[in-house]
Amino acid sequence: MNSIYNYTRECLEDFFKEIGESKFRALQVFDWLYIKRVKSFDEMTNLKKDLTKYLKKTFSMEKLKLVKKQSDVDVKKYLFELFDGNKIEAVLMHHDYGNSLCVSTQVGCNMGCRFCESGRLKKLRNLSAFELVLQVLAVEEDIKDRVSHVVLMGIGEPFDNYDNVMKFINIINDPKGINIGIRHITVSTCGIVPKIKKFIGEKTGVNLAISLHAPTDEIRNKIMPINKVYKIEDIISAVKDYIKATNRRVTFEYILLKDINDTDECARKLANLLKGINCYVNLIPYNETSHIEYKTSPKVTINRFYDILKESNINVTIRREFGSKVSAACGQLRSEQIDLKGTIK
Ligand code: SAH
Repeated sequence: MNSIYNYTRECLEDFFKEIGESKFRALQVFDWLYIKRVKSFDEMTNLKKDLTKYLKKTFSMEKLKLVKKQSDVDVKKYLFELFDGNKIEAVLMHHDYGNSLCVSTQVGCNMGCRFCESGRLKKLRNLSAFELVLQVLAVEEDIKDRVSHVVLMGIGEPFDNYDNVMKFINIINDPKGINIGIRHITVSTCGIVPKIKKFIGEKTGVNLAISLHAPTDEIRNKIMPINKVYKIEDIISAVKDYIKATNRRVTFEYILLKDINDTDECARKLANLLKGINCYVNLIPYNETSHIEYKTSPKVTINRFYDILKESNINVTIRREFGSKVSAACGQLRSEQIDLKGTIK
């Protein structure tokens, strides 16, 4: 499908130049798509009839199909159907600073993190940039408000779909379009080191988050198979390069799994590992799921872990628990709807 939402403004300019039109048309079309939010080319009234006809023939303006929505006070979870029938999810969190949308980047995921629901279904395919853009548009339409922040932390590994993810960021960041500030966009990776290095070269200003989840290779190997390819030492070294080049602070995500990675010793080792790095640690209370045996660490353990990091002068926060009632952890809603062969229950 040749979706119009797959095009950055620069690509649309090239397209219009190629067909002998002024590149200014790209700006007009962007305005209709992302500011006025029209649903058809016919509504783009400042384009000539012939051009409208040609655009209709060339591009699709189809949107995602909303299959299911679950709402709670400060969180909404969406299950969307893609054009090939596959399903993905997005989660909106209302913060006091704005609306933050967590988008999926792939159908399924190949990283196989043991605690994560998404990996129960192997990657079927990457999402195209337009399928990411359409998640943002669908949610904005539903809430009748702006999405102010985007986190690439839904189903999938963004750095395993690198080019489409970069294109998506370009489109939603465009000041003549959806205009989500670059510093309001966060890419989260399980640590694909060559892509972290490539990302340094993009000079986008996008926030980088690393799903670390363990202070030693021994523990990380057990819960994150990717660690057998890229060791903690390699990740830390790439992160240091990133900070040196960008002067940006990096986030380390750390899910607390009872008796796996939540001991005092783990906290001390983590503090040691991150000492002197311009970063902050986001401690995530594990969102338990029925298919996976890991348990959430008790509150006292989480607080102790936090205190040890704090005493070691590590910037640390405990993530506010969102959406455990609406199956908001990565992959959960989709997994409830679909058995592993992909049929809807
Ligand atoms: N593949 C990317 C982005 C998707 S996962 C990555 O690994 O960063 C987004 C975050 O949600 C990761 O930190 C992941 O480890 C975490 N996560 C997955 N399942 C979770 C669960 N059940 N409870 C809490 N966090 C979870």
